[in-house]
Amino acid sequence: MVSSGATSVSRRLLGRLRDVMAGGGTAQERLDKVVTLIARDMVAEVCSCYVMRAGEVLELFATEGLKSESVHRTRLRVAEGLVGDIAAHARPLALADAQAHPHFAYRPETGEEVYHSLMGVPIIRGSRVLGVLVVQNRTMRHYTEEEVETLETVAMVLAELVASGDLVDRSELVPVDGNAVLPLRLEGVRLNGGVGLGVAVLHRPRIVVRRLVAEDPDIEMERLQRALAAIKSQIDVLFTRPEMRDGEHRDVLETYRMFTEDKGWLNRIGEAVRTGLTAEAGVQKVLDDTRARMNLIADAYLRERLHDFEDLANRLLQQLSGDDEEGSRDDLPEAAILVARNIGPMELFDYDPRRLRGLVLEEGSTTSHVAIVARALDIPVVGRVKDVLDMIESLDPVICDGDNGQVFIRPPEDIRDSVVEALSERQIRRAVYAGLRDLPAVTREGIQITLSMNAGLLLDLQHLHESGADGIGLYRTELPFMARSALPDVDAQTLLYRKILDQAEGKRVVFRTLDVGGDKVLPYWNPSDEDNPALGWRSIRITLDRPAVMRQQLRALLRAAAGRELSVMFPMIAEVAELVQARHILDIEIARERTLGRPLPERIRVGTMLEVPALAFQLDALLPLVDFVSIGSNDLTQFLFAIDRGNPRIAERYDPLSPGMIRFMQTVATKCRAYGVDLSVCGEMAARPLEAMTLIGAGIRSLSVTAPAIGPVKTMVRSLDVGALEPYLFSLLDLRDHSLRSRLRGFATDHGVSF
Ligand code: PEP
Ligand code: MG
Repeated sequence: MVSSGATSVSRRLLGRLRDVMAGGGTAQERLDKVVTLIARDMVAEVCSCYVMRAGEVLELFATEGLKSESVHRTRLRVAEGLVGDIAAHARPLALADAQAHPHFAYRPETGEEVYHSLMGVPIIRGSRVLGVLVVQNRTMRHYTEEEVETLETVAMVLAELVASGDLVDRSELVPVDGNAVLPLRLEGVRLNGGVGLGVAVLHRPRIVVRRLVAEDPDIEMERLQRALAAIKSQIDVLFTRPEMRDGEHRDVLETYRMFTEDKGWLNRIGEAVRTGLTAEAGVQKVLDDTRARMNLIADAYLRERLHDFEDLANRLLQQLSGDDEEGSRDDLPEAAILVARNIGPMELFDYDPRRLRGLVLEEGSTTSHVAIVARALDIPVVGRVKDVLDMIESLDPVICDGDNGQVFIRPPEDIRDSVVEALSERQIRRAVYAGLRDLPAVTREGIQITLSMNAGLLLDLQHLHESGADGIGLYRTELPFMARSALPDVDAQTLLYRKILDQAEGKRVVFRTLDVGGDKVLPYWNPSDEDNPALGWRSIRITLDRPAVMRQQLRALLRAAAGRELSVMFPMIAEVAELVQARHILDIEIARERTLGRPLPERIRVGTMLEVPALAFQLDALLPLVDFVSIGSNDLTQFLFAIDRGNPRIAERYDPLSPGMIRFMQTVATKCRAYGVDLSVCGEMAARPLEAMTLIGAGIRSLSVTAPAIGPVKTMVRSLDVGALEPYLFSLLDLRDHSLRSRLRGFATDHGVSF
């Protein structure tokens, strides 16, 4: 508890400080006045302010009482002396006999030997120590707890002056090492893969509305219309950018443009303005209402859409207050990691994407519009990083590790070095893999392996030709559905699928029908009340129960592939009867197109995913009905081992390189070969070279992996001797081991398999 006496001292002192800080003069002059004021008010003979400089050095910047020659000359390293100790531990010290303290470091130039007592507090802003504020007395004074608190309050005010960049250059305030403030590793969720290294840029779009009451509502309505028109034309300009030509992020912006014409929203703002508020106050009021509603809404999708309104409202506020931030965002650092509570898709475009190395969000989900846009721009994103804005300061070094859903703030040198190394290694490897692009994926003895790519966005198609993949082994059609606010109609889908086939330029594309549910939420159907969504109403179960959606999608696919080959794959099939039912719907659509006299695909290949173990026990009934099977190892692992694929606690518990899993693969491969049915693996397992090697050993000859994995897997394939691997792998399958990983790695090393 602060006594009322101490409170009034501090209030009086704060009042005076405020006057000095707001007054004229240079920052140094103001600081000089501040230390004099504090010394007088706290009845101390000395008051000194040390400021942290580059290299973790505390420099005496102002003093009342110590020798003036020592200002800007006396320097202490963090942890050196009492001042350094206060900075190192970010905690106050109050000592009646300071000289008796083991950390006391005597600096003769200051003349401080006559002062016995010392009280010092760190000057902190955010979680960063920016300096130390000290008072000293000749006598052995026992400083009270209240006095420590007063000094801490004063230090808080001073922090603003120190952080302003007027005393020392702002870049100096960025610590080189993690001494002044601890490095942090924060967990989040991967929203887009990749790793980025840069300095933090905080995105805080909040605008304070000062003019609340309007003179003339008509003028305000006019201002509102003008601001809206300006935003619409900004969006139009965005549409002309080359990266906006195609893709789902274009849909996102189109949806966004629709919001600018949303009658309900505009009416609510209009009503607020007519009650006498200014245009900006009206927008603010509706924004506040929206936020309040947002907090009550559990549905993730709706929350995301409401967030788009929030983005738009912020933009309107900026426009109305004449604070078009674009100018200030021009000084974006060369390598920036954008940190935000959440950010709208349009706001992201305010930042130069060439300088954005990552995006860290307190909120966000894989279906966020911003995540979709970031994916298109190839920016790593980590979402749901709790309270990150409270723990980070502008210009803090940050590593945004989208691959592992983690963020390092003020990373220690060794971590930073290893990321830099990994990034440059990645670049070197990329160049090596690019050299492999036109070489075939054949093993040493000449066995051909089909290496395809997984895709889900139109933008992914560019990697098809860059990577030299044989085709698209899995096109996840649900992603475009997730980017829209409503179900795309047949024409929109036809257009999209046609573009995909056009861009594939004759390479095979396997379209998987809608696979939503589980972790892929769509607004139109997904119930949010299931205890086990992964085992719930998802995927083919939804589309068989809502055949109209399946029919529309199949119709669009048939039309898009007219005159070409169409490969359709059904997900999550658990029993042959489901496949029969799905195929029947396809047959109805084929017949319908034929009746309408529309051209059909030249060839139609029908396949199923094998993700539910039960299907593996029905292969004799299934295989005569399909042209191909693709094993979805992500869901398969989940169901074979009864292990939630999204639960990090058990993520490493079982190894897919275990006898059970490999035996499963081998059994399915043998059967498919006997029936002449193509078999591939399209889950994440296939993308890891050691796992891919094992799958080939188990008899699989076709893999579909993410684009960046094509190079590494091809390198492995081209150095592999399948003839040596097969018998070795077979000999391992009856072992009782938890994992065969180390043995397989040993094989790879002994046989010169390169990864
Ligand atoms: C799988 O389950 O392995 C798969 C490829 O499908 P998804 O990851 O889209 O569920
Ligand atoms: Mg799956």
